[in-house]
Formats: sequence, C-alpha cells, structure tokens
Amino acid sequence: MSNIEQTLSIIKPDAVERNLEREIKEFFLHKGFKILKEKKIQIEKNEAEKFYKVHETKPFFNDLCSYLSSGPIVAMVLEKENAVLDNRELMGATNPKEADEGTIRKKYGISIDKNSIHGSDSVENAKIEIDFFFKD
Ligand code: UDP
Ligand code: MG
Repeated sequence: MSNIEQTLSIIKPDAVERNLEREIKEFFLHKGFKILKEKKIQIEKNEAEKFYKVHETKPFFNDLCSYLSSGPIVAMVLEKENAVLDNRELMGATNPKEADEGTIRKKYGISIDKNSIHGSDSVENAKIEIDFFFKD
C-alpha cells in the first residue's frame, strides 16, 4: 500500500548564506522527493517563536528564534512515500557531529545550532508546519 506524505523542510540561514540552496535541493530530488512548493523569505523573530513554540521552555529557545529570523530561509513542501521519516533520515542527527555519512547535516552542518536544515518530526506536525508557511 502506498503511503504518500508531505513534510516541511527549511533550508536555514547558515546554508542560504553559503549558497547551498541548489545543492541541498539536489539531495531531495536524488532521493525521490518532489518539491511541491517553495518560497524564500525572511521571518520576524516573533514568527520564529511561534514556529518553534514546542521548544519555548528550552534554554536554546531565544538563540534559536533569533537565528531562524536572522536571514533568508527557503521553506519547501516535500512529497514522497514516507516523506516525514525519510526526510529525517536524509537530514541526519540534530548535532552535525553525530550525523551519519551521506546526510545533509553531516555534509553542510556547522554546529548544533547552525545545522543547515529543518524537517518536520511527525505527520501531524508536518501539516501544522506546512500551514504555517503556505496557508494564505
Ligand atoms: N538546537 C540548539 N541546541 C540544542 C538543541 C537544538 O540550538 O541543544 C536547535 C537546532 O537548530 C535544532 C532546533 O533547535 O535544529 C530544533 O531542535 P530539535 O530538537 O527539534 O531538532 P531537529 O528536529 O531540528 O533535529
Ligand atoms: Mg524538531
């Protein structure tokens, strides 16, 4: 049975700044993801706070929201079979130092905070995150 899903991916400011947008999209296309929608935008800090609300009690929350709103990002809706988990696998561990060979964070991540990419962690959150960027 097929299980086509959509997930939200964000190319974060550190990667956009290094002009890695095209290279990172190639990772997705090569793994069979379709990029259904995309937009390059810069968000306000209060919007980043809303996006990362699940992390509001964490010590890194303030820096994280400042960072996500510090420069242009590319938000994308990705689609394929098992997109949510497959995207998490392709991204690699949150800390690039712990990410497996062949993952986006292993190749491009600078540090745990500048880890180049965001991906939804569940089908439910993917819907919420896609709406956040693409509901008009
Ligand atoms: N983060 C951080 N310090 C930490 C943990 C996370 O700066 O100790 C940042 C990092 O950019 C990460 C984001 O917060 O991507 C969201 O954290 P999460 O645990 O959801 O990781 P992810 O789902 O992005 O792998
Ligand atoms: Mg997460």
